[in-house]
Amino acid sequence: MGDTAQQMSKEQWVYSFGGGSADGNTSMKNLLGGKGANLAEMARLGLPVPPGFTITTAVCTAYYDNGETYPGGLDAEVDAALKAVEAETGKSFGDADNPLLVSVRSGARASMPGMMDTVLNLGLSEITVQGLAKKAGERFAYDSYRRFIQMYSNVVLGVKHDVFEHILDDYKERQDYQLDTEMTADDWKEIIVQYKAAVKKQLGKPFPDDPREQLWGAITAVFGSWMNDRAILYRKLNDIPAEWGTAVNVQSMVFGNMGDTSATGVAFTRDPSTGEKTFYGEFLINAQGEDVVAGIRTPAPISRSRADALGSDEAPLEEAMPKVYEELVEVANTLESHYRDMQDIEFTVEDNKLYMLQTRNGKRTAAAALKIAVDMASEGLINEEEAVLRLMPGQLDQLLHPTIAPDAKRDVIVKGLPASPGAAVGKVVFDSDEAAELAEKGEDVILMRVETSPEDIHGMHAARAIVTSRGGMTSHAAVVARGMGRPCVCGAGTLQIDPAKGVFRSGGREFKKGDVVTIDGAEGEVLVGAIDMVQPDLSGDFGKLMEWADRARRLKVRTNAETPADVETAKNFGAEGIGLCRTEHMFFDAERIPVVRSMILAEDKKGREAALSKLLPMQRGDFAEIFRIMEDRPCTIRLLDPPLHEFLPHSEDEMAEVAKSAGVSVDTLKRQANELHESNPMLGHRGCRLGITYPEIYEMQARAIFEAAVQVAKETGYKPVPEVMIPLVATQKELDILKAKVDATAKAVFSETGTELEYLVGTMIELPRACLQAGKIAESAAFFSFGTNDLTQTTLGISRDDAARFLKAYEEQGIYEKDPFVTLDQTGVGELVQMAAERGRKTRPDIKLGICGEHGGDPASVMFCDSLGLDYVSCSPYRVPIARLAAAHAALNK
Ligand code: PEP
Ligand code: MG
Repeated sequence: MGDTAQQMSKEQWVYSFGGGSADGNTSMKNLLGGKGANLAEMARLGLPVPPGFTITTAVCTAYYDNGETYPGGLDAEVDAALKAVEAETGKSFGDADNPLLVSVRSGARASMPGMMDTVLNLGLSEITVQGLAKKAGERFAYDSYRRFIQMYSNVVLGVKHDVFEHILDDYKERQDYQLDTEMTADDWKEIIVQYKAAVKKQLGKPFPDDPREQLWGAITAVFGSWMNDRAILYRKLNDIPAEWGTAVNVQSMVFGNMGDTSATGVAFTRDPSTGEKTFYGEFLINAQGEDVVAGIRTPAPISRSRADALGSDEAPLEEAMPKVYEELVEVANTLESHYRDMQDIEFTVEDNKLYMLQTRNGKRTAAAALKIAVDMASEGLINEEEAVLRLMPGQLDQLLHPTIAPDAKRDVIVKGLPASPGAAVGKVVFDSDEAAELAEKGEDVILMRVETSPEDIHGMHAARAIVTSRGGMTSHAAVVARGMGRPCVCGAGTLQIDPAKGVFRSGGREFKKGDVVTIDGAEGEVLVGAIDMVQPDLSGDFGKLMEWADRARRLKVRTNAETPADVETAKNFGAEGIGLCRTEHMFFDAERIPVVRSMILAEDKKGREAALSKLLPMQRGDFAEIFRIMEDRPCTIRLLDPPLHEFLPHSEDEMAEVAKSAGVSVDTLKRQANELHESNPMLGHRGCRLGITYPEIYEMQARAIFEAAVQVAKETGYKPVPEVMIPLVATQKELDILKAKVDATAKAVFSETGTELEYLVGTMIELPRACLQAGKIAESAAFFSFGTNDLTQTTLGISRDDAARFLKAYEEQGIYEKDPFVTLDQTGVGELVQMAAERGRKTRPDIKLGICGEHGGDPASVMFCDSLGLDYVSCSPYRVPIARLAAAHAALNK
């Protein structure tokens, strides 16, 4: 964009902050990124923020839109903002006496920890290093300068770290030094000469000594890092669109590494693991921020109470720097009540003076999110509806899954920090690529490493849990694992990992790679073998929050279940009915399958009826059990759906056994099985087509349903309302024929038993033709249940059983952003659902509408169903709470 265009749009590219004021504020996250918006807000609140400025995300977008060139006018705005920082700090950029040094950091709308680039100590040169030496001593100044050269060369110029590591190692060896601390100012000067020579040799040009050139190099590197592989992967995993772009924050440096009166740390206003209201954090004396996050040195706790809880011998900040601690607590309280949410803050102490470098809403485990939301609501900081919105539906998964049984025998291999709760079992691997490969093959793996870095994201995602031997509660491993909901044990100091030998050791014991271990993230323990787990507690805070969610939502939530155990689980999870009982699942029972097979293989109707009469009492018993558990809740029971050949024997042994019990020869059996074979069974003799060709099967099932309902009504006084569902209907006529049979069966049962019950007959809508004909079909159907698994299959023309082979490529190329079998394809399949719902309602305004495909438990799809005004979603038992919460979010976000 040229100058004129920029003037015309009057876009402001750079926003300053510091000295008690700021151009931006926290509501401007989209433009300033999270970090920039909150730095501005903190400056406005009068908190001690080193002055600086934010180059907006709009610059990033413009930069990429215009073939990696900056919009006109940007340089002038940067110059002006830099001048303001100089005025505020009394330092100047490039000055030999009192140089301004800055950090240059990324900051996107959503936090992407460690994914993008950072440059510290920028502005150091042969000239300015002398000014820094006057203020902080020669050794410190030249050490900082060589760190800067290393970091800048790596991040901006692309020179590999090991180039510098070799130089330093060789030098130390020649001097016979063991530690960096033995290096003197003169040693560092010598290293700087060598570093610069190495850079020149590699790049063919000298290391830039002009601070402005450095600044633009760093800004461009940060914008460039928006498109690096790990940032792209992170965005994909976290649904962050590439168009958002990142901002760049340029901020005057403060030094946490200027000796024992300096420090740096991170803190959370509440415990991000449990949600407990305690000031929680870690710090390192004489260190820069990166040292804490990188997990290279294990930091000390901030407060005495945390130190006691962790059994740490190190002096907490509370004792090492009591005044700073007091001020920090005050700042933390101010921030939490200002933002009305748990804050994750970064601070630096330079020579006993506190500076705030970041605040943001803290990432937290699901357990912590729940506790914090409920606590904040009872503290009056937020209301109940806000509390509901604080827990993400997808996160709930972490709360609903098992933890280690309290009485389980624990053989502890090693104990580290409880970095992310939950329990997991798997085989130990030491490498992220290997973790990803094995997980792809369906293995459960535990990723065990000395520490993790952003390069390990794919391995962490693939692993069931993560263990590190180094690093604290805010190390990369801990932060990322919590975000992903993976159990994590960090800083297990006595753990020795030896990838070369394929072993790991602790406490004198040795284990092999591939050994099965159990991780207890809540206790921070790694245990031998696979340990028993228990179900989670669904009362207390969970119950309270779900009650608030239920109050907020309109959409009802049912479950897909058929076994008494699943039905019971779903009821406990709050299912308001059964949305789909797949009766065929009841056919596979070892006791029943021979009867089912003789039904299928019967030569004629008579033979089939004989087998069906044996199945009748079995099915009746099943349905009665379901009605008993569900009490008065509605139950949708689907009549037989899958192609019959699925029930046939496969192996020779099975064939022989079935032939014997059916009284036919193996050859006859094979011939019949052959006859049932289909090229496209998913589009074949299944669903209502079975009812059309073998009506006696559906009649038996309908009879079992009504007899069971009558029986339970008599027994218990409940009034079950069976909803009989016909699958895979494409035409009204199919439904009419089958509905007539169901009605006739109901009539017969009611007259035989002398008890009449309310019931409904409806259909699944899972074929495009059914969507088109929904207006007609609704004349005969009391309800529609959208079978979006088959509807996705038939609308997209993609086999639901084979899609995995190519869908990944489709997702990678953005053809379908998400797997359409997981998240409803709203623009295609969704449009059909919408059309069918509208047409159905037009014919029959009170028609019941629900969805029972897998999408019924996917938060985004649930929200879409709410927007269409469906009456309910139905999903597997463990996803019922997720759907309840998603439905509440849908209602509250309207
Ligand atoms: C569907 O097709 O969406 C459905 C729920 O039925 P099934 O998965 O049993 O085919
Ligand atoms: Mg189906």
